[in-house]
Amino acid sequence: MNEVEIQRQKEIKEAEELLFTGPQALGFAKGLFLGRFVSDWAMPYPRVPAAQQADLDKSLAEVREFLDQNLDPVAIDRAADIPQQVIDGLAHVGVLGMTAPKEYGGRGFSQRAYCKVLEEIGARCASTSVFTNAHHSIGIRALLLFGTREQKQRWLPPLVTGQQLAAFALTEKEAGSDAANVQTQAVPSADGAHYILNGEKRYITNAAIAQVLTVMARTPIPGSDKTAITAFLVTPDMPGFTMLEPRMEKLGIRGTATGRFAMRDMAVPKENILGPLGKGLKVALTVLDFGRTTFGACCTGAAKTCLRLAVEHANTRRQFKKTLGEFDLVKKKIGRMAADIYAMEAMTAVTASLIDRGLEDYMLETAMLKVFTTERLWEAVNDAFQIHGGSAYFNDSPLERMLRDARINQIGEGSNEVLTSFIALVGMRGPGMEFKEIYDTMFKPSRGLGKAWTAGMNRLGAAVKIPSVPVKSESLRSQASQLGRLIWRFNLSVNRALIKYREPVMDMQLVQERIAGVAMEMFASACVISRLDSQLQGVGRNGDSPAGNHRAAELFLRQSFHRIRRFLSELTDNDDRQLLETANVALGKESAANRNGF
Ligand SMILES: Cc1cc2nc3c(=O)[nH]c(=O)nc-3n(C[C@H](O)[C@H](O)[C@H](O)COP(=O)(O)OP(=O)(O)OC[C@H]3O[C@@H](n4cnc5c(N)ncnc54)[C@H](O)[C@@H]3O)c2cc1C
Repeated sequence: MNEVEIQRQKEIKEAEELLFTGPQALGFAKGLFLGRFVSDWAMPYPRVPAAQQADLDKSLAEVREFLDQNLDPVAIDRAADIPQQVIDGLAHVGVLGMTAPKEYGGRGFSQRAYCKVLEEIGARCASTSVFTNAHHSIGIRALLLFGTREQKQRWLPPLVTGQQLAAFALTEKEAGSDAANVQTQAVPSADGAHYILNGEKRYITNAAIAQVLTVMARTPIPGSDKTAITAFLVTPDMPGFTMLEPRMEKLGIRGTATGRFAMRDMAVPKENILGPLGKGLKVALTVLDFGRTTFGACCTGAAKTCLRLAVEHANTRRQFKKTLGEFDLVKKKIGRMAADIYAMEAMTAVTASLIDRGLEDYMLETAMLKVFTTERLWEAVNDAFQIHGGSAYFNDSPLERMLRDARINQIGEGSNEVLTSFIALVGMRGPGMEFKEIYDTMFKPSRGLGKAWTAGMNRLGAAVKIPSVPVKSESLRSQASQLGRLIWRFNLSVNRALIKYREPVMDMQLVQERIAGVAMEMFASACVISRLDSQLQGVGRNGDSPAGNHRAAELFLRQSFHRIRRFLSELTDNDDRQLLETANVALGKESAANRNGF
């Protein structure tokens, strides 16, 4: 086995361990890859439970009032700091512990309801939304999900009331996208009472202002010479904790304190281990799943601000004796923004509700939400910027700041490239396993032809049957049946890619990008259909007016279906070979395209 193959086997083993711990209900996204529309997860459109709606309305009103009166995103950006009074105010209105159970001082909100609150913050100030995410969505999340009762009782109350702040520290020099490559070591002390941590973390939001940090470090696996990642609760007053750089200067979200710190022979009590020993990667990735839903909410809020600014300018600025909004090329940008925002909001609501409803495996949906909303926000900022022309370029323009702020989203909490590849590979695993079953059985007749026959028929069944997308509104039947047909085509294309490329498809990221792209668009379209159906039936709630912007939804579906068809046709008609060869020449590498089997 060569080095690449050994690394591949290691990654597969890690992924298996992380993702497939036992039988789980078929999720929405995994269903798409199998040619199914698992409607229960997306329909009917999720509503905040009636019992929580009054609480949410009250909190939203309080949060809005507080933000309108006290949050100054320009001042935060200029000073590169979020004033303590803002942090105290967020704590006062409950934002810093909103999803924590009431018994620990939190508000007990669902993820769906919390996303509505985060959307408000994201619409106003990205520094503040990233600070809040780092504290609540990922900082205290491991404690909420994996903490023992004693740990929760001890650590949560000051954190959920904002007396203390939290951070989540995974990233290191050698562990960026490759999160499993954490090098920080944690070795048990001689008496077994502590773990001694040595290592450095970088790019950690809130590191310098947090009193509690969830730190990932590598611990020995008892009885073997191997190590695995474990999550620890760390406080900066532990001897050996050194802040190397409390506020790294940066392009955007300048109000956040992004830091770098070292741990030198730092003793951490073994009681501070969060979750099972050696299962820290699972802890980290589960935490990030939660973070990705609120990421989606913040991006939706920011995109709404872009649309508002674009519309205001397009309706007032005159050139060639017309307002800008009278030009079709400006309308094109505004229409697309409105359509995308409709989808971003719907996708955020559906994804958050998967968590609330207890679906165990929502990694694909949260990854899709993160990639989709961050890319669409980037387009929205860019388009709003373009509509504002030169005026956007100057420091007194909110769009200048928003453009800088939005850039981190495609990189942080899993870069979009890594997540795109992840979506395709994890999604294809379902059909891939079925093929493997057929293949294995064919070559091992002792395992019984009956099994191969069943698996083969399942495949065939999925391949010939167009899934039904159940809608209540007559006017949506056509879009619903188009989506059903596209899911059917997608399933055929995934099967074809698996048969054609077999194992090497794991390295073929251009193929993966199209497959993930289709899956994301189909998920977004399903959420849009679900939301529109609910609005047409007059049951829109949660600020979702029954009248709604139906045109935006319809435009989104048309544009999304076009993108899906384009991705599907590019699976067989593309320039991949030439593109890879050109890149290889530029990179000074031998051609890898032939190796990849194009
Ligand atoms: C402002 C800010 C705040 C942050 N806050 C936190 C925090 O609170 N906690 C924390 O733990 N981390 C935090 N991070 C770290 C962040 O999560 C990482 O920057 C991110 O995971 C990417 O890692 P990296 O920067 O090392 O980039 P690399 O891993 O070096 O990747 C660089 C680029 O290479 C490409 N790439 C990498 N791998 C692949 C692949 N397999 N396939 C295709 N392309 C690939 C991608 O385009 C990627 O953007 C923060 C970062 C920033 C900038």
